[in-house]
Amino acid sequence: MPMSQSFKERLFPIAEQLVEHFGSPFHVYDEVGIRETGENLKKLFAGVEGFREYYAVKALPNPEILKLMFDMGFGFDCSSIGELVLSRQVGGRGEDIMFTSNNTNQTEFEVAAADGGCILNLDDISLIDKVPEFPELICFRYNPGPRRTGNVIIGNPVEAKYGVTHDQVVDAYRQAQKRGAKRFGVHTMVASNELDYTYMVETARMMLEIVELVEGELGIQFEFINIGGGVGIPYQPDQAPLDIAAMAAEIEEQFKAFREKHSYVPRMYMESGRFMTGPHGCLVTSAINYKNIYRNYIGVDACMSALMRPALYDAYHHIDVIGKENVPKDQVYDVVGSLCENNDKFAVQRELPKIDEGDILVIHDTGAHGHAMGFQYNAKLRPKELLLRADGSVQLIRREETLDDYFATLKFDDNVFLAKQG
Ligand SMILES: *Cc1c(COP(=O)(O)O)cnc(C)c1O
Repeated sequence: MPMSQSFKERLFPIAEQLVEHFGSPFHVYDEVGIRETGENLKKLFAGVEGFREYYAVKALPNPEILKLMFDMGFGFDCSSIGELVLSRQVGGRGEDIMFTSNNTNQTEFEVAAADGGCILNLDDISLIDKVPEFPELICFRYNPGPRRTGNVIIGNPVEAKYGVTHDQVVDAYRQAQKRGAKRFGVHTMVASNELDYTYMVETARMMLEIVELVEGELGIQFEFINIGGGVGIPYQPDQAPLDIAAMAAEIEEQFKAFREKHSYVPRMYMESGRFMTGPHGCLVTSAINYKNIYRNYIGVDACMSALMRPALYDAYHHIDVIGKENVPKDQVYDVVGSLCENNDKFAVQRELPKIDEGDILVIHDTGAHGHAMGFQYNAKLRPKELLLRADGSVQLIRREETLDDYFATLKFDDNVFLAKQG
């Protein structure tokens, strides 16, 4: 069930004009779809006290998209200085921002504390003494290790570099208290692209248990739990979406039970990236070459610099050909870019309608971890980004990279080091 029917109905009729006006390739995002997903999330979780989504900025770090999130009352999940700065540029301040770095350096701590600060989410107990000015509100990322398995993509928590272990977690908060912390939260991220909602419910349960554990040992009350991102989307046409309504209902039950037992309840945060924007973006690219060797290849004007997921994860992205939605899929193609890497393929042995040069292809579900993951290897530059507004207008929200951008890091004064002679 990739890309919504509504997005298709608004995009496909204007796709050709968009290509004429802006030139291909481009990613285009759907304001209506993003807002609907966000409003629905708020509605479903309204029964969970203090629910807040912190949009995972890395999924689609474009200020126009972040403004939509902020407008819906969402905060930002950041893990780098660039993401912090971006979130602040669109108005995020203080507790609007959750900073979940790992292998954190001093500059990151400084920027995190500057400019109104943020919720600092520490990845390790060794970092407690390295925080220059310890904040009053502190959070730790919890790694359940062998207590939790099952999510296919993120893998076994024992092998994950993130977070404090189960045995360290009480001590982490104790040490934070010693450094002056007075307000507390706890965070985890144990799933990626998970379609089974019960996995997310289990994560919420696990976090409430950690809250109980630490409260029992140290007598501190937690202000929030953050269950991280990882809510999946169906990329394959026959996949069912995650049952977000059931997820919300079951988590609400847990929070109600917690309140009855403890007479208070922490707020619940989550930091979805993919779920919020993934299906509401697509990569529009033109067929420029057809090649018939051992296989049939359709060469398009985008390449993996615009979308890494197929090459990186062997990920499936559904493809439509504009104007040929009802043409029988009686051809088998590899749809490829021009990068000198044989895994630069958007689709492998895909059944598609017969594609002619000049046809416009729509590669679905590029609204999260799409453009953002692009790179410049092979001097293949990243394409532009467009936003289909609620009023039907289409706005350029990032231009394509140019050769000037590519060469920008080569313009500097000579800087030559000569070792001192002993
Ligand atoms: C990547 C990431 C997210 C978002 O993950 P999605 O799978 O896009 O929901 C959230 N939190 C953290 C800490 C992350 O690293």
